[in-house]
Amino acid sequence: MEFQSQEKTDPKTYFLKNNGLDRILYNLDFSVLQKYRCFANCKNCYTKDLWIPAKQIENYIPAAINESLRSQLFKVFEYFDKVSIIDDLKFIKDGAPHLWSFYMENQNLFYLSSLNDNAVLRHFPLLTQEFFPQGINEICLSEDFMNRQNSIEFLGMLEKIHQRVPIKNITFYARTDEMTTIAIQMHQWCLANEVKFKSAGPVPNNIIQNWASRSQSIFLMHDRFYNDLKTATTAVGQSYASLDDFDSRSFLAQTLNARMVNYNQFIRQNLNVYVDYNFIPLPVLPPFTKFYKTLISKGLAVETKYGLLFHNSDSFGPIKPLMDFKTKE
Ligand code: SF4
Repeated sequence: MEFQSQEKTDPKTYFLKNNGLDRILYNLDFSVLQKYRCFANCKNCYTKDLWIPAKQIENYIPAAINESLRSQLFKVFEYFDKVSIIDDLKFIKDGAPHLWSFYMENQNLFYLSSLNDNAVLRHFPLLTQEFFPQGINEICLSEDFMNRQNSIEFLGMLEKIHQRVPIKNITFYARTDEMTTIAIQMHQWCLANEVKFKSAGPVPNNIIQNWASRSQSIFLMHDRFYNDLKTATTAVGQSYASLDDFDSRSFLAQTLNARMVNYNQFIRQNLNVYVDYNFIPLPVLPPFTKFYKTLISKGLAVETKYGLLFHNSDSFGPIKPLMDFKTKE
């Protein structure tokens, strides 16, 4: 659940502060495939039970990214501060070279979302010799995995990656709360290389937290939008919007409606979302977001002291907000 009301915090204020569109729309997680699949085979993988079987994943590899799709993708990317690849790039390069070329041609547009344990080893040749996106949002390493590595060699590999593709964060999943030698070594490496370091508890205890933080993102799988990693991974997971008919204004209402399942009962019962809105109040979409700036630069909305106003044909018409709460309190 994204929503966790804290003691003495008004649920509506908490919702706006923590679940406003600024959080959701900052990063777009992207895949050239129609469903998420990884072949890194990490011991502590928390998504493998959801995967489409290896033999069937071919059904989710699109035949091409044609000109029309490219142009639609680039239009959508303009609305997000970051677009982060979630693909197993080794699999894309070997198994779908026609899609790999799209990444190679446009590598400057992307970040990598995250690399966990084995994926660091698996991606090392690519990220040091061939493919140089803008950065890696997060590398997650478990103590079990690190104990199987030569730590000096492994930190040397991280350094080589970091020289070409800056690593933003490292999360270390320790087995206990103790700061072990390997945790200290990693912390020191992060300090020396200006990478943020976080030591989290044992992996199983953090699965829910991990899902929650990932669920802040929207997932664009080739040409369909998904609400979370689970729906983007499973064969039965349903998309909530498509690239074909992308309209930035409708998209915001579609996204909020789709995310209703992530919210707690109070929000589900009291939040109204209006598809035919013409006003987005602050702080639902703050001015610092790229989505806000793009709506203005494209002439789709105008700034007011209280939020963004959209045109309804020739006039602005009566104010109808994107969302409001049913209860007065
Ligand atoms: S990289 Fe992530 S998704 Fe892939 S096997 Fe490892 S934990 Fe699972």
